[in-house]
Amino acid sequence: VEVLLTSGDRSSHSTNAWIWAVATRETIATLDLDGLDPTLIQDSADTLNLYIATLPAGQTDFSILGGFGDLLDSVDGTGIVVVGTIPANVQETAAAGIDVRKFAPAAISGETGADQDLPRLEEGDVYGLSDEVDPDGILATITDLQGTSSTDGTGIGTRQYLQPGNVIAAEYLFRKLESYGLEVHYEDFISPEGTLASNIVAEIPGRDDSAIYGVMAHFDSIAETFAIAPGADDNATGVAAALEIARILSGYELEHPVHIIFVNAEETGIVGSRYFAASAVRNQVPYEGIFNLDSIGSARQGQLVWLNSDSTSEWMMALMIRINEAYGLGQDIQARVNPQIVADDNRLREQGFESILVARELFGTSPYHHTSGDTLENMSVPNTTSATQLVLLTIASLVIP
Ligand SMILES: [Zn+2]
Repeated sequence: VEVLLTSGDRSSHSTNAWIWAVATRETIATLDLDGLDPTLIQDSADTLNLYIATLPAGQTDFSILGGFGDLLDSVDGTGIVVVGTIPANVQETAAAGIDVRKFAPAAISGETGADQDLPRLEEGDVYGLSDEVDPDGILATITDLQGTSSTDGTGIGTRQYLQPGNVIAAEYLFRKLESYGLEVHYEDFISPEGTLASNIVAEIPGRDDSAIYGVMAHFDSIAETFAIAPGADDNATGVAAALEIARILSGYELEHPVHIIFVNAEETGIVGSRYFAASAVRNQVPYEGIFNLDSIGSARQGQLVWLNSDSTSEWMMALMIRINEAYGLGQDIQARVNPQIVADDNRLREQGFESILVARELFGTSPYHHTSGDTLENMSVPNTTSATQLVLLTIASLVIP
């Protein structure tokens, strides 16, 4: 592993004795492989169709994989499998006791690993952070998410969780977060239809990890036709904001860690955030407050921002109102404690994590949401930018000494 890390790479999967890694020819040429015995498994950096399958304890016979996919390599009971269609259906492998995980994409050579000399974020820096929010970066992310995940030739993508574009988007987000020097991992779960779906979690480090804050956004989309669900406002805007916040805060030494959490399969039953919350409880992650950004780019209602929570997280709404006033951000904030408004943040509160919804459109009000018309021209990049500034400054105020 050390050999990889010194080159700025990381393993994509490792067992006790072996490492599987995706690396360019240039990287391999620079590695000091003295005493190591590398084997080329696949002459391509394409990881979209790769999964890791682990057989039940003690078993090493991969014939029980059946028609799941082709075994590329294995170490004892763990193998790399290439599947024909993504997202892979893992219903039968799960029934056979086989654990399947998504193979992580290629590392971005030379960019992983934390910078040691980051400036410490202080109270006096908070206001200036709003100038660091880059509307062009937000525009680029929304353009990428609504467009490049297309696999059907329409030029408009889909991130619906049963579609290939969903896995393409997951890899895109994984690599974006990693390009900021962050630790990133997939959190896999089985969807109600039996496919393997992934949440993506990145960690911005902080000096005191007894309290951690979070920014959450669902990255899946939906429309009547699953293959044409661009989901620009719902919710490429929330994703773009969270990426900007990750990019900016990763340039500072923070008092507390901030986690960037992209959840999957929100649009049908709010599934991914339920898995996220359950695993955070299991791992006893000390989340003090998680901001769920969902559809923050509406062009229809000026600077209106809806916040929603229950009584446990009213302090987060009060803080956002205070930050908006203190820094003159000009947002028209409407705060509610309304259990009828249901989004990913409800799943967090159900598990005891304080969290709030941040939205410019509530579910069911936009004429574009959940249609093929939820595209860039029907939303506002400046409004996404100003909502991003409000959330960024609020979180920054929580992670200064
Ligand atoms: Zn949404």
